Amino acid sequence: MCKRCKHVNSQPLNTPTKSERMERIVEIEKVSFESEYEKSLRPTSFEDYIGQEKIKKNLNVFIKAAQKRLECLDHILFFGPPGLGKTTLAHIISNEMNANIKITAAPMIEKSGDLAAILTNLQEGDILFIDEIHRLSPAIEEILYPAMEDFRLDIIIGSGPAAQTIKIDLPRFTLIGATTRAGMISSPLRDRFGMHFRLQFYTKEELALIITKASHKLEKICLQDAAVEMARRSRGTPRIALRLLKRIRDYADVVDEEQINKERAQYGLNELGVNDLGFDELDLKYLELLLKTKGRPLGLSTIAAALSEDEGTIEDVIEPYLLANSYIERTARGRIASPKTYELFRLTPPTLQSTLFEDNA
Ligand code: ADP
Repeated sequence: MCKRCKHVNSQPLNTPTKSERMERIVEIEKVSFESEYEKSLRPTSFEDYIGQEKIKKNLNVFIKAAQKRLECLDHILFFGPPGLGKTTLAHIISNEMNANIKITAAPMIEKSGDLAAILTNLQEGDILFIDEIHRLSPAIEEILYPAMEDFRLDIIIGSGPAAQTIKIDLPRFTLIGATTRAGMISSPLRDRFGMHFRLQFYTKEELALIITKASHKLEKICLQDAAVEMARRSRGTPRIALRLLKRIRDYADVVDEEQINKERAQYGLNELGVNDLGFDELDLKYLELLLKTKGRPLGLSTIAAALSEDEGTIEDVIEPYLLANSYIERTARGRIASPKTYELFRLTPPTLQSTLFEDNA
C-alpha cells in the first residue's frame, strides 16, 4: 500500500469565537489550518512521541497483532482536552500500519451524502480520522453504525412506501475518532469502537523534553532550565508548550541570542502575560469570578455571560486543566473555587455556614 496523506478537510470547525479571534497565548484549540510549523514538529513514530506510555504500549501490541493477522486495526476512540496529541497519535498509527490517513472533522459532515462520499472513497486498510466526533448528528451516526460494524453503507433512496434501501459494500477501514467531550458521545457510537484511550495531561519533565526536541528541529537550541521554565507554564499541554517555544524563539532572535536561556524564557513568558502557573488573563478572570461568589456555585451559562465567552470554550479550553489540578470543583449546582485557589490568591476560604447563610439570604 502506498503511503499518502490526504486531508479531506482540516478547516476551522466552526465560526471563530471571541477568544479564537483574540488568539490566547495559551490557546489550545485548533483555530485554523494546521500550520506548517505544527506539521513539521509533529512526531511521526512512537519513539518520538513523548509520554502517554500506557497508550503507546497498548497501541503497539494491537498494531503488531493486526499486522500479524494481516487484518485492519479495530476502530479507536481518543478522549482528552485539545492539544494533548490525539491527531498526532492517529498519524503515527497510520505510519505504523503503513496506511493512508484521511482527516475530517464532524462539523464538516453535514449531510448523509458527505459521509457517503468519504466512505466510498476509502481504500482497503485506510484510516479515517474524525475529529470532534461527538458533534456528529444522530442521522449521520446511523449511517456510520453499519459502516463500522459490517463495512456496509445503507443508502435510502426516495421516501414513503416507494423508498428503497441500497446496500454498498465498503472496503475494510479503521475509524479513529477524537473527542474533547467523552460524555457527549452517544453510547451506541462509543460501543462500536473496539479501543478507548483517555489522554492525560503531561508532566513538566515530559513537556520539557518535547520543547527540547522541538527546539532542535527548529534549529534554535533551548537550554534545559529554559525548557523547564516553559514546561511549567504550559498547562500540561504540548500544543501550548510548542507555541510558547515559538514565541520565546522570536524574543531570542530579535536580540541575536544563539540559544534560548532561562532569563530569555522568563522575560518572554512574562511579556506574553503567562504567569508562573501557566494562567493567562482569561484563566485569572475566570478564577476571580468564582472567588467573588464566596463559595456559591456558579453555572456554566452565568460564567460564560460574565466572561463574554461561549460555553464550549470554557468547558473545553479553560476548565479541564483547572479541574485536573484541583483549582476548581464542579458540583451539581455549579462551579466553585477550591481551597487551593483561595490560598493562591491569599484569601480565606468561606466556611460552609457562611455559604449556606448567603444562599438563603
Ligand atoms: P489534539 O489532536 O489532541 O488536539 P495534536 O495531536 O494536534 O493534539 O497535538 C498538538 C501539537 O502537539 C502537535 O504539534 C504535536 O506535534 C504536539 N504533540 C502532541 N503530543 C505530543 C507528544 N506526545 N510528543 C511530542 N509532541 C506532541
